[in-house]
Amino acid sequence: MRRTKLNSIMYTPKLELIIADITTLDADAIVNAANSSLLGGGGVDGAIHRASGPELLEACREIGSCPTGEARITPGFKLLARYVIHTVGPIWHGGNNNEEHLLKSCYINSLQLAVDSNCRSVAFPNISTGVYGFPKDRAASIAVTSVVEFLKTPSSIEKVIFCCFGNENYDLYKDLLNEK
Ligand code: ADP
Repeated sequence: MRRTKLNSIMYTPKLELIIADITTLDADAIVNAANSSLLGGGGVDGAIHRASGPELLEACREIGSCPTGEARITPGFKLLARYVIHTVGPIWHGGNNNEEHLLKSCYINSLQLAVDSNCRSVAFPNISTGVYGFPKDRAASIAVTSVVEFLKTPSSIEKVIFCCFGNENYDLYKDLLNEK
């Protein structure tokens, strides 16, 4: 483990943990925690649409909707990121509605789209842990496990960034990544 800048920790070989506004990151792709309409919303979705500009909404309209657990890719437009990968996390309904499997699918399907577009770096927000109400500790565990599993197969991906928006998620991820 190597410390880089404040609030950013590099884990070898391919994982980075950071507290940041995901719209500011210079990654090949940033992932959006979208809703199934793909027409924008609050939280990280709203922030990404504001930063990317109206062309993003136009591109999303052309795609149409996206089922929970799946992902779609668009250009990043005004963002530093070349691509936005829109994935629809599950709404937490108590845990007996396939939520964990659907959240894992979000990570795996997003990473697969990133590979298909030859991305080397991908940044994820903490999908479903805002208004969708997924328990943060379980969501963090699924995120880390899914990404680590995916990265076991060689691909274009050199770095995955877990981008937290607050200390609570950051501390959860830090503990999980320190165990890896
Ligand atoms: P969901 O509907 O999937 O729960 P939200 O956008 O409500 O999506 O929240 C998902 C996560 O994104 C939350 O942890 C929230 O704090 C975080 N978030 C909100 N805005 C940003 C941002 N600009 N950059 C990174 N993460 C953000």
